[in-house]
Amino acid sequence: KESRAMKFQRQHMDPDSYPSNNPNYCNQMMRRREMTKGSCKPVNTFIHEPIVDVQAVCLQGNVTCKNGQPNCHRSSSSMNITDCRLTSGSKYPNCVYRTSQKERHIIVACEGNPYVPVHFDASV
Ligand code: C5P
Repeated sequence: KESRAMKFQRQHMDPDSYPSNNPNYCNQMMRRREMTKGSCKPVNTFIHEPIVDVQAVCLQGNVTCKNGQPNCHRSSSSMNITDCRLTSGSKYPNCVYRTSQKERHIIVACEGNPYVPVHFDASV
């Protein structure tokens, strides 16, 4: 079974593609990473940084998660990310996304031993 840590990597990690200007990036990646099965996931962020740097965020500034849980962490550096947002006219199974490159601090929830990212909370 896929662990929460593995699911985080599938949904949010793309260290090897440096933010390109491919307007189809989200359309392709949301499908390839299986976030368009059954429904179109409305918002998703991909992180273009080494996995070790993203795992290290679990040791950085502790913040409260959107859902009130205490185990979120804000990256001390800004990171290269791609923000994928479903377009308003998009109808399942045709999931059409707007792709935007950003440099933002990321907020992730961490769990377990080792204490690793399991949820993407926000970019700020
Ligand atoms: O904020 P909300 O609870 O609606 O987010 C639902 C899911 O959307 C998150 O668990 C996360 O996988 C994804 N998300 C994201 N990037 C954001 C906001 C949400 O990947 N900036």
